[in-house]
Amino acid sequence: MKPAAPRPALLRTDGIGLRCEAGGFHVDPWKPSPCAVITHAHADHARRGSHRYIAHHDSVPILRHRLGQDIVIEGRGYDEPFAMGEATVSLHPAGHVLGSAQVRVEAGGEVWVVSGDYKRDHDPTCRAFAPVACDVFITECTFGLPIYRWPEPRVVADELNAWWRDMRAQQRTCVLYAYSLGKAQRLLAHLDPSIGPIALHPAIDDITTLYRAAGVALPESVRFVKEIVKDLRGGAMVLIPPSAAGAEALAALGPVSDASASGWMRTRASRRWRSYDRGFVMSDHADWPGLLRTIEEIGAKRIGVTHGTVKPFVRYLNEKGYDAFPIDTAYNADETEGAA
Ligand SMILES: [Zn+2]
Ligand SMILES: [Zn+2]
Repeated sequence: MKPAAPRPALLRTDGIGLRCEAGGFHVDPWKPSPCAVITHAHADHARRGSHRYIAHHDSVPILRHRLGQDIVIEGRGYDEPFAMGEATVSLHPAGHVLGSAQVRVEAGGEVWVVSGDYKRDHDPTCRAFAPVACDVFITECTFGLPIYRWPEPRVVADELNAWWRDMRAQQRTCVLYAYSLGKAQRLLAHLDPSIGPIALHPAIDDITTLYRAAGVALPESVRFVKEIVKDLRGGAMVLIPPSAAGAEALAALGPVSDASASGWMRTRASRRWRSYDRGFVMSDHADWPGLLRTIEEIGAKRIGVTHGTVKPFVRYLNEKGYDAFPIDTAYNADETEGAA
Protein backbone atom coordinates (compact mmCIF):
# COMPACT_ATOMS: atom_id res chain seq x y z
CA MET A 1 0.00 0.00 0.00
CA LYS A 2 1.33 3.42 -0.90
CA PRO A 3 1.44 5.95 1.94
CA ALA A 4 -1.34 8.56 1.79
CA ALA A 5 -0.03 11.77 0.27
CA PRO A 6 -0.68 14.95 2.25
CA ARG A 7 -3.83 16.41 0.75
CA PRO A 8 -4.41 20.17 0.61
CA ALA A 9 -7.88 20.52 2.07
CA LEU A 10 -10.17 23.40 1.22
CA LEU A 11 -12.52 22.05 3.88
CA ARG A 12 -11.54 20.06 6.94
CA THR A 13 -13.22 19.28 10.23
CA ASP A 14 -12.15 20.98 13.42
CA GLY A 15 -13.88 20.77 16.79
CA ILE A 16 -16.65 23.04 15.53
CA GLY A 17 -17.57 21.65 12.15
CA LEU A 18 -16.50 21.41 8.54
CA ARG A 19 -14.26 24.45 8.30
CA CYS A 20 -13.22 26.47 5.27
CA GLU A 21 -10.05 28.27 6.28
CA ALA A 22 -9.88 30.41 3.14
CA GLY A 23 -13.48 31.59 3.58
CA GLY A 24 -13.53 31.91 7.38
CA PHE A 25 -16.72 29.88 7.85
CA HIS A 26 -18.05 26.44 8.78
CA VAL A 27 -20.58 24.38 6.87
CA ASP A 28 -23.34 23.01 9.19
CA PRO A 29 -21.23 23.41 12.39
CA TRP A 30 -22.19 21.30 15.41
CA LYS A 31 -20.66 23.89 17.78
CA PRO A 32 -21.11 27.69 17.61
CA SER A 33 -19.10 29.25 14.77
CA PRO A 34 -18.38 32.90 13.88
CA CYS A 35 -20.06 32.15 10.54
CA ALA A 36 -22.21 29.13 9.67
CA VAL A 37 -23.21 28.30 6.10
CA ILE A 38 -26.24 26.03 6.53
CA THR A 39 -27.24 23.40 3.96
CA HIS A 40 -30.73 22.89 5.41
CA ALA A 41 -32.78 23.29 8.58
CA HIS A 42 -32.79 19.71 9.94
CA ALA A 43 -31.62 19.68 13.54
CA ASP A 44 -28.34 17.82 12.97
CA HIS A 45 -27.24 20.41 10.37
CA ALA A 46 -28.61 23.62 11.88
CA ARG A 47 -27.72 24.28 15.49
CA ARG A 48 -28.07 27.25 17.79
CA GLY A 49 -25.30 29.57 18.92
CA SER A 50 -23.45 30.68 15.78
CA HIS A 51 -22.84 34.42 15.44
CA ARG A 52 -24.00 34.63 11.87
CA TYR A 53 -25.81 32.27 9.50
CA ILE A 54 -26.01 32.09 5.72
CA ALA A 55 -28.59 29.84 4.01
CA HIS A 56 -30.89 29.70 1.00
CA HIS A 57 -33.76 32.26 1.09
CA ASP A 58 -36.36 29.50 1.59
CA SER A 59 -34.45 28.13 4.59
CA VAL A 60 -34.37 31.48 6.38
CA PRO A 61 -37.94 31.45 7.83
CA ILE A 62 -37.56 27.77 8.81
CA LEU A 63 -34.24 28.44 10.54
CA ARG A 64 -35.71 31.42 12.38
CA HIS A 65 -38.64 29.24 13.45
CA ARG A 66 -36.32 26.51 14.73
CA LEU A 67 -33.30 28.44 16.06
CA GLY A 68 -34.97 31.68 17.19
CA GLN A 69 -36.30 34.81 15.51
CA ASP A 70 -33.27 36.78 16.74
CA ILE A 71 -30.53 34.86 14.89
CA VAL A 72 -28.39 36.91 12.50
CA ILE A 73 -29.02 35.35 9.11
CA GLU A 74 -28.59 36.22 5.44
CA GLY A 75 -30.54 34.54 2.64
CA ARG A 76 -28.93 33.69 -0.70
CA GLY A 77 -30.35 32.45 -4.00
CA TYR A 78 -29.29 29.29 -5.83
CA ASP A 79 -26.42 29.68 -8.34
CA GLU A 80 -25.49 33.15 -7.07
CA PRO A 81 -21.78 33.32 -6.16
CA PHE A 82 -20.70 35.52 -3.25
CA ALA A 83 -17.29 36.29 -1.73
CA MET A 84 -16.29 34.92 1.67
CA GLY A 85 -12.72 35.92 2.57
CA GLU A 86 -10.46 34.39 -0.07
CA ALA A 87 -13.19 32.01 -1.26
CA THR A 88 -16.10 32.26 -3.66
CA VAL A 89 -19.17 30.45 -2.37
CA SER A 90 -22.50 29.52 -3.97
CA LEU A 91 -25.54 27.44 -3.08
CA HIS A 92 -27.11 24.85 -5.40
CA PRO A 93 -30.33 22.79 -5.10
CA ALA A 94 -29.95 19.53 -3.15
CA GLY A 95 -33.50 18.18 -3.61
CA HIS A 96 -33.71 17.18 0.07
CA VAL A 97 -36.24 19.59 1.64
CA LEU A 98 -37.42 23.16 0.86
CA GLY A 99 -34.40 25.47 0.67
CA SER A 100 -31.85 22.65 0.98
CA ALA A 101 -28.56 23.50 -0.67
CA GLN A 102 -25.24 22.07 -1.69
CA VAL A 103 -22.39 24.43 -0.88
CA ARG A 104 -19.83 25.08 -3.64
CA VAL A 105 -16.53 26.56 -2.45
CA GLU A 106 -13.84 27.81 -4.81
CA ALA A 107 -10.41 28.97 -3.63
CA GLY A 108 -6.79 28.60 -4.69
CA GLY A 109 -7.80 27.13 -8.06
CA GLU A 110 -9.81 24.26 -6.53
CA VAL A 111 -13.55 23.64 -6.29
CA TRP A 112 -15.15 21.62 -3.50
CA VAL A 113 -18.84 20.87 -3.17
CA VAL A 114 -20.53 19.80 0.08
CA SER A 115 -23.72 17.96 -0.74
CA GLY A 116 -25.48 18.31 2.61
CA ASP A 117 -28.34 15.78 2.57
CA TYR A 118 -29.71 15.13 -0.91
CA LYS A 119 -31.94 12.92 -3.01
CA ARG A 120 -32.53 12.33 -6.70
CA ASP A 121 -36.20 11.27 -6.63
CA HIS A 122 -38.98 13.64 -7.62
CA ASP A 123 -40.30 15.81 -4.80
CA PRO A 124 -43.00 18.37 -5.62
CA THR A 125 -42.07 20.45 -2.55
CA CYS A 126 -38.50 21.43 -3.44
CA ARG A 127 -36.12 22.16 -6.32
CA ALA A 128 -34.49 19.09 -7.89
CA PHE A 129 -30.83 18.27 -7.12
CA ALA A 130 -28.43 19.91 -9.60
CA PRO A 131 -25.04 18.21 -10.22
CA VAL A 132 -22.19 20.74 -9.86
CA ALA A 133 -18.78 20.06 -11.41
CA CYS A 134 -15.96 20.06 -8.83
CA ASP A 135 -12.57 18.63 -7.87
CA VAL A 136 -13.76 17.21 -4.56
CA PHE A 137 -17.34 16.16 -3.80
CA ILE A 138 -18.28 15.63 -0.16
CA THR A 139 -21.27 13.30 -0.19
CA GLU A 140 -23.61 12.11 2.52
CA CYS A 141 -24.27 8.36 2.50
CA THR A 142 -27.16 7.77 4.92
CA PHE A 143 -28.26 4.84 2.73
CA GLY A 144 -24.89 3.87 1.23
CA LEU A 145 -25.51 0.14 0.94
CA PRO A 146 -26.81 -1.77 -2.13
CA ILE A 147 -29.94 -2.96 -0.26
CA TYR A 148 -31.32 0.57 -0.29
CA ARG A 149 -33.33 1.13 -3.49
CA TRP A 150 -36.42 3.30 -3.49
CA PRO A 151 -39.57 2.53 -5.47
CA GLU A 152 -41.02 5.28 -7.70
CA PRO A 153 -42.53 8.00 -5.47
CA ARG A 154 -45.69 7.89 -7.63
CA VAL A 155 -46.16 4.19 -6.79
CA VAL A 156 -45.71 4.87 -3.07
CA ALA A 157 -48.20 7.76 -3.27
CA ASP A 158 -50.77 5.41 -4.84
CA GLU A 159 -50.21 2.85 -2.04
CA LEU A 160 -50.62 5.59 0.53
CA ASN A 161 -53.94 6.81 -0.89
CA ALA A 162 -55.19 3.22 -1.32
CA TRP A 163 -54.47 2.57 2.38
CA TRP A 164 -56.36 5.74 3.31
CA ARG A 165 -59.39 4.78 1.15
CA ASP A 166 -59.46 1.28 2.71
CA MET A 167 -59.31 2.63 6.23
CA ARG A 168 -61.99 5.22 5.53
CA ALA A 169 -64.25 2.43 4.26
CA GLN A 170 -63.64 0.69 7.60
CA GLN A 171 -64.35 3.92 9.56
CA ARG A 172 -60.79 4.02 10.84
CA THR A 173 -58.61 7.12 11.08
CA CYS A 174 -55.16 7.01 9.49
CA VAL A 175 -52.26 8.20 11.64
CA LEU A 176 -49.16 8.73 9.52
CA TYR A 177 -45.87 9.37 11.33
CA ALA A 178 -43.53 11.69 9.47
CA TYR A 179 -40.64 13.99 10.31
CA SER A 180 -42.01 17.53 10.68
CA LEU A 181 -39.69 19.23 8.18
CA GLY A 182 -39.71 17.88 4.65
CA LYS A 183 -41.16 14.40 4.84
CA ALA A 184 -44.53 15.56 6.18
CA GLN A 185 -44.96 18.20 3.46
CA ARG A 186 -43.85 15.78 0.75
CA LEU A 187 -46.40 13.21 1.93
CA LEU A 188 -49.07 15.90 2.15
CA ALA A 189 -48.36 16.89 -1.47
CA HIS A 190 -49.03 13.28 -2.52
CA LEU A 191 -52.29 12.84 -0.58
CA ASP A 192 -55.61 12.87 -2.44
CA PRO A 193 -57.77 15.37 -0.50
CA SER A 194 -60.96 14.03 -2.16
CA ILE A 195 -60.70 10.99 0.18
CA GLY A 196 -61.28 12.93 3.39
CA PRO A 197 -60.03 15.64 5.74
CA ILE A 198 -56.28 16.01 6.41
CA ALA A 199 -55.07 17.17 9.83
CA LEU A 200 -51.52 18.22 10.75
CA HIS A 201 -49.95 18.10 14.19
CA PRO A 202 -49.01 21.69 15.22
CA ALA A 203 -45.27 21.00 14.77
CA ILE A 204 -45.97 19.91 11.17
CA ASP A 205 -48.60 22.60 10.61
CA ASP A 206 -46.14 25.37 11.57
CA ILE A 207 -43.57 24.24 9.01
CA THR A 208 -46.27 23.63 6.41
CA THR A 209 -47.39 27.26 6.79
CA LEU A 210 -43.81 28.31 5.92
CA TYR A 211 -43.83 26.02 2.86
CA ARG A 212 -47.10 27.57 1.65
CA ALA A 213 -45.67 31.08 2.22
CA ALA A 214 -42.71 30.10 0.02
CA GLY A 215 -45.17 29.23 -2.78
CA VAL A 216 -45.29 25.42 -2.44
CA ALA A 217 -48.77 24.18 -3.51
CA LEU A 218 -50.20 21.71 -0.97
CA PRO A 219 -53.67 20.21 -0.36
CA GLU A 220 -55.85 21.92 2.24
CA SER A 221 -55.42 20.78 5.81
CA VAL A 222 -56.53 21.62 9.35
CA ARG A 223 -54.48 21.96 12.52
CA PHE A 224 -54.71 18.88 14.74
CA VAL A 225 -55.96 20.31 18.02
CA LYS A 226 -58.19 18.74 20.69
CA GLU A 227 -61.28 20.72 19.67
CA ILE A 228 -61.50 19.15 16.21
CA VAL A 229 -60.72 15.53 17.04
CA LYS A 230 -64.40 14.54 16.90
CA ASP A 231 -64.60 15.76 13.28
CA LEU A 232 -61.69 13.55 12.31
CA ARG A 233 -62.96 10.22 13.64
CA GLY A 234 -63.79 7.55 11.12
CA GLY A 235 -61.55 8.29 8.17
CA ALA A 236 -59.37 11.39 8.33
CA MET A 237 -55.63 11.41 7.62
CA VAL A 238 -53.61 12.74 10.56
CA LEU A 239 -49.89 13.53 10.15
CA ILE A 240 -47.86 13.35 13.36
CA PRO A 241 -44.12 13.63 14.06
CA PRO A 242 -42.76 10.39 15.62
CA SER A 243 -41.83 12.36 18.76
CA ALA A 244 -45.55 13.05 19.38
CA ALA A 245 -46.55 9.37 19.33
CA GLY A 246 -48.00 9.54 22.84
CA ALA A 247 -50.13 12.66 22.22
CA GLU A 248 -53.32 12.68 24.26
CA ALA A 249 -55.49 13.76 21.32
CA LEU A 250 -54.54 10.56 19.45
CA ALA A 251 -56.39 8.40 21.98
CA ALA A 252 -59.60 10.33 21.25
CA LEU A 253 -59.51 9.47 17.53
CA GLY A 254 -61.22 6.11 18.03
CA PRO A 255 -60.08 3.15 15.90
CA VAL A 256 -56.93 4.04 13.97
CA SER A 257 -54.48 2.46 11.58
CA ASP A 258 -50.93 3.80 11.85
CA ALA A 259 -48.05 3.92 9.42
CA SER A 260 -44.65 5.47 8.86
CA ALA A 261 -42.91 6.57 5.69
CA SER A 262 -39.13 6.27 5.62
CA GLY A 263 -36.14 4.82 3.82
CA TRP A 264 -35.64 2.56 6.83
CA MET A 265 -38.86 0.79 5.83
CA ARG A 266 -36.83 -0.82 3.06
CA THR A 267 -35.31 -3.24 5.56
CA ARG A 268 -37.64 -2.90 8.53
CA ALA A 269 -34.49 -3.51 10.50
CA SER A 270 -35.67 -2.02 13.72
CA ARG A 271 -38.42 -3.14 16.01
CA ARG A 272 -39.82 0.37 16.06
CA TRP A 273 -40.78 0.27 12.38
CA ARG A 274 -42.29 -3.18 12.70
CA SER A 275 -44.70 -1.89 15.31
CA TYR A 276 -46.66 0.13 12.71
CA ASP A 277 -49.60 -1.34 10.80
CA ARG A 278 -48.11 -0.14 7.52
CA GLY A 279 -44.73 1.05 6.26
CA PHE A 280 -44.19 3.14 3.14
CA VAL A 281 -40.74 3.35 1.57
CA MET A 282 -40.13 7.04 0.95
CA SER A 283 -36.89 8.77 1.78
CA ASP A 284 -35.50 12.28 1.39
CA HIS A 285 -32.01 10.80 0.99
CA ALA A 286 -30.44 9.32 -2.14
CA ASP A 287 -30.67 5.53 -2.38
CA TRP A 288 -27.69 3.39 -3.45
CA PRO A 289 -28.23 3.84 -7.21
CA GLY A 290 -28.86 7.56 -6.57
CA LEU A 291 -25.52 7.98 -4.76
CA LEU A 292 -23.57 6.17 -7.49
CA ARG A 293 -25.32 8.00 -10.32
CA THR A 294 -24.61 11.33 -8.63
CA ILE A 295 -20.90 10.64 -8.16
CA GLU A 296 -20.65 9.51 -11.78
CA GLU A 297 -22.48 12.59 -13.12
CA ILE A 298 -20.40 15.02 -11.09
CA GLY A 299 -17.19 13.49 -12.39
CA ALA A 300 -15.00 14.35 -9.38
CA LYS A 301 -12.28 11.80 -8.66
CA ARG A 302 -11.84 12.79 -5.02
CA ILE A 303 -14.85 11.95 -2.88
CA GLY A 304 -15.23 12.82 0.80
CA VAL A 305 -17.74 10.55 2.51
CA THR A 306 -19.69 11.39 5.64
CA HIS A 307 -23.05 11.01 7.40
CA GLY A 308 -24.02 7.32 7.24
CA THR A 309 -22.46 4.03 6.15
CA VAL A 310 -19.09 5.71 5.64
CA LYS A 311 -16.59 2.82 5.85
CA PRO A 312 -18.15 0.41 3.34
CA PHE A 313 -18.94 3.25 0.95
CA VAL A 314 -15.35 4.57 1.04
CA ARG A 315 -14.07 1.04 0.43
CA TYR A 316 -16.48 0.53 -2.47
CA LEU A 317 -15.49 3.83 -4.14
CA ASN A 318 -11.78 3.16 -3.72
CA GLU A 319 -12.21 -0.24 -5.37
CA LYS A 320 -13.93 1.56 -8.26
CA GLY A 321 -10.85 3.77 -8.70
CA TYR A 322 -11.94 6.90 -6.86
CA ASP A 323 -9.77 8.63 -4.28
CA ALA A 324 -12.38 8.38 -1.52
CA PHE A 325 -11.80 9.32 2.10
CA PRO A 326 -13.95 9.45 5.24
CA ILE A 327 -14.85 12.74 6.92
CA ASP A 328 -15.83 12.56 10.54
CA THR A 329 -18.87 14.76 11.28
CA ALA A 330 -21.58 14.93 13.91
CA TYR A 331 -24.51 14.57 11.50
CA ASN A 332 -26.92 11.73 12.07
CA ALA A 333 -29.72 10.02 10.22
CA ASP A 334 -32.36 12.71 10.62
CA GLU A 335 -35.13 10.37 9.48
CA THR A 336 -34.99 8.70 12.88
CA GLU A 337 -34.57 11.85 14.87
CA GLY A 338 -38.22 12.43 15.63
CA ALA A 339 -38.51 8.94 17.09
CA ALA A 340 -35.56 9.35 19.45
ZN1 LIG B 1 -31.60 16.39 6.43
ZN1 LIG C 1 -28.65 14.96 7.86
